[in-house]
Amino acid sequence: MAKKKTEKMNFQTEAKQLLQLMIHSLYSNKEIFLRELISNASDAIDKLRFESIANPEMTEGDTDFHIDVTFDKDSKTLTIVDNGIGMTREEVISNLGTIAKSGTAEFFSKLTGDQKSDAQLIGQFGVGFYSAFMVAQEVEVETCSAIPGSTGVRWKSSGEDEYSIEDAKDLGRGTRVILHLQQEALEFTEDYRLRSVVKKYSDHIGVPVRMVKAAITGDDEEAKKEEELEAVNSAQALWTKSRTDVKDDEYKEFYKHISHDFDEPLSWSHNKVEGKLEYTSLLYLPKKPPFDLYNRETPKGLKLYVQRVFIMDDAEQFLPLYLRFVKGIVDSNDLPLNVSREILQEDEKVTSIRNALTKRVLSMLSDMAKKEEEKYQEFWDEFGEVIKEGMGEDFSNRDSIAKLLRFSSNKSGEQEKKVVSLEGYLGRKAKDQKSIYYICAESFEKASQSPHLEIFKQKDIEVLFLFDRIDEWMMSMLTEHEEHPLVDVMRGDVKLPGESEEKDDEDSSEEKAEEHPLTERITPVLKDKVQKVRPSKRLTDSPACLVLSEDAMGIQMRKIMEANGQSMPSSKPYFEFNPDHPLVKRLDEESDEDRFGELVEILFDQASLAEGGSLQDPASYVSRMNRLMLDLMSG
Ligand code: ADP
Ligand code: MG
Repeated sequence: MAKKKTEKMNFQTEAKQLLQLMIHSLYSNKEIFLRELISNASDAIDKLRFESIANPEMTEGDTDFHIDVTFDKDSKTLTIVDNGIGMTREEVISNLGTIAKSGTAEFFSKLTGDQKSDAQLIGQFGVGFYSAFMVAQEVEVETCSAIPGSTGVRWKSSGEDEYSIEDAKDLGRGTRVILHLQQEALEFTEDYRLRSVVKKYSDHIGVPVRMVKAAITGDDEEAKKEEELEAVNSAQALWTKSRTDVKDDEYKEFYKHISHDFDEPLSWSHNKVEGKLEYTSLLYLPKKPPFDLYNRETPKGLKLYVQRVFIMDDAEQFLPLYLRFVKGIVDSNDLPLNVSREILQEDEKVTSIRNALTKRVLSMLSDMAKKEEEKYQEFWDEFGEVIKEGMGEDFSNRDSIAKLLRFSSNKSGEQEKKVVSLEGYLGRKAKDQKSIYYICAESFEKASQSPHLEIFKQKDIEVLFLFDRIDEWMMSMLTEHEEHPLVDVMRGDVKLPGESEEKDDEDSSEEKAEEHPLTERITPVLKDKVQKVRPSKRLTDSPACLVLSEDAMGIQMRKIMEANGQSMPSSKPYFEFNPDHPLVKRLDEESDEDRFGELVEILFDQASLAEGGSLQDPASYVSRMNRLMLDLMSG
């Protein structure tokens, strides 16, 4: 291959943006660039170890893996060297010049320009290699791929718009990152300071990270230098240690290493399983969801190791989709080293591990809910919606998931976040109450203002509020909890405690209730709009409301379907009026049939509005109201 001259190339637009943000928003915690670069070096070694299982020639017999961190005060450089997998020219261009992550555009659209909140977001995005520019005015990368016969490459940039790239002969396998430090970052050429940072970010890594034993002055003999290098970390993969030997801080650092998260984890669980299956798992719950939690293409899953050899990132097969926010590693002794994603999908051992890990996460959550309520609340606020997916996805664990659910209710007062579990609900329900009541609405406010709650408020019965997009769907899976039926107060003929909640002599009671003279007068007015007219048992303050029939599709579900372009046959509601309300009483006395009709139409429209629905014909509503007001004013 002919030697290529130095080429100048532009960073991809998103990469440029990220670089700028990095430099300007994250300055307060500069030292993390070392975590990122050491992390990359360790990943590169993991990858080579893995590749060389099938292609032993890639290591050329050199399996003495290590990462070296050195500095030079005079030239103000800091260098991180690894003998990992290295990169080809093409890899350098795509890995260091672009951001390949899915959802990148979405990520940038969320940035606000406010440094503090943007810094938070970048943290969730993962900062990576570009964090080097927080401390360096120029970054040089010399790298040579472990693929036999590869030519080396030198990449250079000052983090502005472009970088240069050229072939470089005589480079050994692996990658050397040379940082030309900014004046303000010279602390990283202080041996003591550097050593403590390197130690902090490498203690959990399974490769020796080495530094020069004592400052060497004016030497140029490589050999001598080599001798003086010593590992500053224990070089034992963290999860292989026993729990009692690992400090919380080490667990936290390891989390940041594998998750690229800025924040500390909310909680973790480290377990060694022995017996028929042997594996170790270390699972973390993050504090905040990643920006792309709902993006289908987002990589998810655990880091998979087999007998301590790194096999792959994002092994999805070890956890169900609704636990996709869990980060961590699983290290199996039973899988073959050459295991592929396809094999993982079918392997019975993988299924058993997955079932066990799922239970592990669920019990971690239920323990937290019991012992650390506040922490669980924090978790629920961030991840509740994803957990709800589990009600449909994971039939075998439905009961445990149901116990993790939290709801606002008419007992939350003004505080949406004051939630209750099903267990809590049952613990404070009325004595003779069998059902668990709930209402679906578009928001907390709409739920709390619904006329359907009036009778429940009056009788001090708790009603759960459901207003997440996914709720109506979820409730179709949750019809019963510990033998208590869940009842939608907006549907059908709701029975109150003490009223014999069982479905029994429905007909007779309904018939009786419908014996009201207004029923017959109202029915012809609304006959095209409603299925039935009847006096209400659920209203105390409002004159009228609309009720869904038992099998009608809920408002939320209908909206979702319609947003997806599906037209839904409209099912007509029931119209219920409150015979004790002054307006209704007055209506009863109205002898002018035209005027009676107008008033009924207004009551119907108002009931739709109170339900959070929109009017079919707002103009008619307005003109009716205006006529009414004119009458009032002139009379
Ligand atoms: P991430 O590590 O999350 O993929 P980075 O920005 O840290 O993102 O790195 C981008 C990519 O550059 C890596 O995925 C890897 O392919 C490549 N890379 C970075 N550092 C090294 C290295 N020391 N050796 C080999 N490849 C590297
Ligand atoms: Mg990285």
